[in-house]
Amino acid sequence: MRITDEQALDMFHSDDLIGLGMEADGLRRKLHPGGVASYIIDRNINYTNFCTEYCSFCAFYRPMGHKEGYVLSRETLHEKIQETIDLGGTGVLMQGGLHPHLKIEWYEELMRDLKQNFKIHLHALSAPEILNIAEISGITIEQTIARLQASGLDSIPGAGAEILDDEVRYKIARLKCRSSEWIDVHRTAHKLGMRTTATMMFGCGENLQQRVNHLRLLRELQDETGGFTAFIPWSFQRENTSLGRFVKEETTSVEFLRTLAICRIYLDNILNVQTSWVTQGLKVCQLGLRFGGNDVGSIMIEENVVSQAGARNQATEEDLRRIIRDAGFVPKQRDSLYRTYFLN
Ligand code: SF4
Repeated sequence: MRITDEQALDMFHSDDLIGLGMEADGLRRKLHPGGVASYIIDRNINYTNFCTEYCSFCAFYRPMGHKEGYVLSRETLHEKIQETIDLGGTGVLMQGGLHPHLKIEWYEELMRDLKQNFKIHLHALSAPEILNIAEISGITIEQTIARLQASGLDSIPGAGAEILDDEVRYKIARLKCRSSEWIDVHRTAHKLGMRTTATMMFGCGENLQQRVNHLRLLRELQDETGGFTAFIPWSFQRENTSLGRFVKEETTSVEFLRTLAICRIYLDNILNVQTSWVTQGLKVCQLGLRFGGNDVGSIMIEENVVSQAGARNQATEEDLRRIIRDAGFVPKQRDSLYRTYFLN
């Protein structure tokens, strides 16, 4: 039976970590009875680090005019995608800062070019980027997504959600979109037949009620549209960020596993839940497979955003297959839509 917000809050206060893990594992087993845990070979491509939002948890962005700012050339993008395909990759996760001058036509041309040159899934442009493109191009969210979709965009990543509670957002990302705007982009994408993922960056100074508020918005939207393929929670990395001056302690392994388990139990309508090695390392990620996770994410041929905030974990395909096998699961490569049937 579905748990309420009050029950979720009680679980956050519970010290029965193993009990929570077993409950989440039971639900995972029902949703994924085959004993498979998945991973993907893909690449993060950050096409630009110029950004106008100045989020306090971000060590990646550079203000306009900064000498370390870049927009990747088309040749560089092609090289990166070719390398991904050569390594057995099926998709790219392409995101960037909110560039104030790149309008919809620039993205349409980019998508068309990449699709013409490569057989690759484009999982790209988070909700804040979509909102930015719509705003500077003077068109609606729906027009923006529909035009991008027609040009080759396959699905939208869940980044930019952080904690979907405006009190938190106001503190950590004052200029960035409100919770309702993030939800609106995903609702619109789902209605246009596009699948998206949902994320949560926790441990950034929010309280537990605010964490539950985040989960409630996701569960409600999923009830309405069914468009989320997966939920990916990760913990805030504080190094090199201005927020790190205020949030002094990073999430512990126990807090990560507890949160993962509660998310699995609460989000009973989202099929896949990812356990993260990027912020927690391979060992905690592996434990997460017994705390509700059924996916370990990507080998991440390239990761720039979290690594600049201090996460220095790395993994090869064989590392991921080994931790999956050793946790008692069958490892299977998946694609960006969490499908494993045509691979392996
Ligand atoms: S998190 Fe995204 S929107 Fe915020 S400053 Fe970094 S790149 Fe910009």
